[in-house]
Amino acid sequence: MSNAEPSRALFDWNSWLESVRKRIKHTEFLTWFQRIELGAFTPELFEIKVPNNFTREWLHDHHSKEIIEAVEEIAGVRPQLNFTVDQRLEIVPPVNKSTEKIPIEKAPSERVATITPPTNSPNLESPQKKNFQFFANNSEIPLNENYVFENFVVGPSNRFPHAAALAVVENPAEVYNPFFVHGSVGLGKTHLLQAICHKMMAEQKQTRILYLSCEAFVNHFIEALEKNQLNNFRYKYRQVDVLVIDDVQFLANKERTQEEFFHTFNELYNQRKQIILSSDSPPTDIPDIQERLVSRFKWGLVTEICPPTFETRMAIIRRKARLKGCEFPDEVVKYLAEYVDTNIREMEGAVLKIIGLVNLHGTQRVTLSLAEEACKDLKESRNKSQITMDDILQIVIDNFHVKLHELQSKKRTQSIVLPRQVCMYLAQKLTHLSLAEVGGYFGGRDHTTVIHANLKIKQIMNEDPEMNNKINQLIRSLENQ
Ligand code: ADP
Ligand code: MG
Repeated sequence: MSNAEPSRALFDWNSWLESVRKRIKHTEFLTWFQRIELGAFTPELFEIKVPNNFTREWLHDHHSKEIIEAVEEIAGVRPQLNFTVDQRLEIVPPVNKSTEKIPIEKAPSERVATITPPTNSPNLESPQKKNFQFFANNSEIPLNENYVFENFVVGPSNRFPHAAALAVVENPAEVYNPFFVHGSVGLGKTHLLQAICHKMMAEQKQTRILYLSCEAFVNHFIEALEKNQLNNFRYKYRQVDVLVIDDVQFLANKERTQEEFFHTFNELYNQRKQIILSSDSPPTDIPDIQERLVSRFKWGLVTEICPPTFETRMAIIRRKARLKGCEFPDEVVKYLAEYVDTNIREMEGAVLKIIGLVNLHGTQRVTLSLAEEACKDLKESRNKSQITMDDILQIVIDNFHVKLHELQSKKRTQSIVLPRQVCMYLAQKLTHLSLAEVGGYFGGRDHTTVIHANLKIKQIMNEDPEMNNKINQLIRSLENQ
């Protein structure tokens, strides 16, 4: 058998998880090993997909040894360990079989809404089925069990979207249709959308709900086109009572999917079905999206989730810690609330890290110094995250003499392509934006374009000393601004 090709089939992930579980503390296992997946396995390489950098660092620093020992136990080899971040795992419960053998917390409701796609539905056959998250008989629920209203801390920054979301649950398709929530990354859009789904599923047993990311919608549409299965596609999306699509900014630049989405929207709307959407910007600011879609998005309620205030941040931190069975003293809560002041996902990462340290040190006390230790890495990454995409765009516009709308356009002239690629390169290097998010700033280009831009700029910097100097100068300016 060839060793060269990474294989997942060869590897018994369940046995491996069991083996890891025997080697480490139970709480550690529950905290760090529930949202990971096998990336690749060869005798030389063992790759694990993790939801975020915290998990990657934590597993690398604290459990590399046990991870490899477990591989050795079940596969008889000691490959090199590698991690890749797959943000999808943040919100999607693991589909690996770990849940079959290892007891983990159950979702509050196991019920799934009933949609029966035609038996030859591409979704059920597709090897990429995982990408097409939806509710249906016999499919896993893609909802995060923690994303319920009970865990959603309400404050001035989100009071209105929260109240409106509850109103939508009470009166689907009557009060706000569509219901459109926007806000920056990590402020709770996905949490709110999923909370609506949870509550509707619990209270309205007959309601057929379809929840999915816009990316999944796009992928599904492309596959349906390729396989000539548009009927199945339409059947699936037009038979629901509630259609929830997360991150619709992903429609940017995808004309055919926009077209299809437009018809889906109309069909559902005319049948008085509820449509719920989220986006990282208000409808009018989504780049390259058809005007008629924008205007439909505005038919119902457009509401914004803003960055949380200090008090709300404190409440969220307490709530997150309690969810993990841990009570943080006031001084630690305040420290964290001051420290992480915008992205709630980062706050959650810090909380997890502290709990990880508590477990590791075998101590019961959460002290300020423990919190500081946990935030050390965050400090570095915060330096990074202070540089925004706007900073990058501005500096590139100034130095390459291009205009913003040119950078965001589809123009492929070299005088525009190069600065655009420089922006993508700098964003990858200096911010925490994901590839898809970076692409989103440039008219919804996809992640492969961003990867290509990175490689291209690195190559140019290698070959052209002048350009190398210029770009390094930009990096220094951004870091020292
Ligand atoms: P977005 O979809 O806007 O990028 P998410 O919904 O994924 O953000 O939220 C990021 C993290 O922050 C999640 O863990 C979520 O539970 C948490 N979060 C966001 N807002 C709140 C809130 N108001 N109360 C509690 N947790 C929140
Ligand atoms: Mg989200």
